Amino acid sequence: MAFQFLTFHSFLLLLSFFFILCFAWLWHLNWSHPDLPQLRAKTAHSMVHRLLKPRSPRDCPDCRLSSPLSAGVEPAPLPVRPWCEIKSRRGAPKRIDTQGFSCPNQQCPYLGVTDAHVHALVGDGTHGRAEPIQTFRCQACRTTFTARRYTPLYRLKTPSHQIAVVLAARACGLDPSAAERVFGYRQATITTWLTRAGGHAEILHQRSFRNLWLPHLQLDELRTRLRSNTHVLWLWLAIDPCTKLLPVLQLGPRAQHMAHLVIHSLQQLLAAFLPPPLYQ
Ligand SMILES: [Zn+2]
Repeated sequence: MAFQFLTFHSFLLLLSFFFILCFAWLWHLNWSHPDLPQLRAKTAHSMVHRLLKPRSPRDCPDCRLSSPLSAGVEPAPLPVRPWCEIKSRRGAPKRIDTQGFSCPNQQCPYLGVTDAHVHALVGDGTHGRAEPIQTFRCQACRTTFTARRYTPLYRLKTPSHQIAVVLAARACGLDPSAAERVFGYRQATITTWLTRAGGHAEILHQRSFRNLWLPHLQLDELRTRLRSNTHVLWLWLAIDPCTKLLPVLQLGPRAQHMAHLVIHSLQQLLAAFLPPPLYQ
């Protein structure tokens, strides 16, 4: 009986000694090298080292077209003789102010001329039931057109002040369905007005934002979603941190052509894009 007890006791002793050896071996493997995970992470990071691809103007189609080799010399527009020097001095003087309007006829020499002392526009009555809409006539080519041409109000029968009220409410955040209930216009009609106003605002933005002097600009792209979670878009913007001015705002994918579009749009708006030592 005593012999069996001694054998069992020695077996337990050997078993505990074996466990101690295993524990010491594991400690030697893992705990004696505390920087092993960091080394593995560094090795993996070095394996996926980012391959930088410096861009050149040849990567952008617009830059290739605007390069000195491919850029063609556009002929300078011929000076237009003022209509007041061509027409007869007879007749009544102008009563309608035509400054800012121009003849839309592509064949007319006064196409795009908005100076009232140069172009040949005169007033040609009004039309419209809801409110009077001025009509102009070009005396050079006899083309008539309304003052609302190329504006969001062109061929709309709703009074302009009501459209302005609806669009102001939409700009303040009123929901399209709520705007339909409040103002009584169909949602599709309101959407059409908003689309027209947006296009016109974009043109106005391009005409107004010229030769800007912005010493500090912050360029960024923001991840956004449109209507559904699956349609992810990126909002590309350039903002002046001092005045909070947004000279460039583009919506599109996060691709290289969008970056080129933002940079080219910014270059056209600014009076000075970069100091000469940076791009020469
Ligand atoms: Zn004309």
